[in-house]
Amino acid sequence: MPELPEMEAWRRALNDPVSAFPIEQAGPAHVATLKTFDPPLRELEGRRLAGAERRAKRLLFPTEDGELVLMIHLMSAGRVRYLGAGEKGPKTPAFRLRFEGGGELVLTEGGPKKRAGVWLLTPEAVEEELAHLGPEALGLGAERLGEILAKEPRRLHSLLRDQRIIAGIGRAWANEILHTARMSPFAPAQGLTPAQVQTLADAIDSELLRGLELRERGAKDAKVYRVHNKLHEPCHVCATPVERVDFDEHTIFYCPECQTGGRVLKDRRLSRLLR
Ligand SMILES: [Zn+2]
Repeated sequence: MPELPEMEAWRRALNDPVSAFPIEQAGPAHVATLKTFDPPLRELEGRRLAGAERRAKRLLFPTEDGELVLMIHLMSAGRVRYLGAGEKGPKTPAFRLRFEGGGELVLTEGGPKKRAGVWLLTPEAVEEELAHLGPEALGLGAERLGEILAKEPRRLHSLLRDQRIIAGIGRAWANEILHTARMSPFAPAQGLTPAQVQTLADAIDSELLRGLELRERGAKDAKVYRVHNKLHEPCHVCATPVERVDFDEHTIFYCPECQTGGRVLKDRRLSRLLR
């Protein structure tokens, strides 16, 4: 799933093109992709977008008149692209916005499952829709992070991925951040010293910024990630083979030398222990 660095890179790339011309045609949208029916999509036609914004892993496109907001959540397999006039695109995207001048914003989704979503909302409804999200991960800072950690009897990896607590980090960047901070994914959030909180806050910023910079240059997963999906590859810090712990829905990657005091965490025993 795209996380904060990926979404922010897309937002930056889309900001200018989507606001260059008024919308000529909004839709069609796949029936499973469009999550709202009132106001109808055609309400966008003739209006101009103010640009692209982002909250957590969602893209927001407010209209210039301040009356409507188009929200897109890509989930795991959705991809959004701007096609210049005449540029060839997918035949049946999950959603399409056509602009005067011929440009198009298209949303596609790989695989049979349609999980990505498009919402057309009023600004008040967007606020309500996003009210459950925690503060943005990038630029959170040690003080705020310390307050959050002190309240949560959780383990670090699971806490960092919880959008209600901190918004924008998923499993891939949680792996990268904890590796940079040299902390166990299973360390209790409440057990961190002030110095460790500072280290973690710094790792959140440095890793998300590293990811953003690479994504803006078009780097693919294999180059962007250093621990995530790197099972048995040498850790870039100490050359110890990267290990993983499997859960039902996700996998945690870590370096035993850098993060768990040399201990290799056994999948089954550990996951049973943590249930
Ligand atoms: Zn290492």
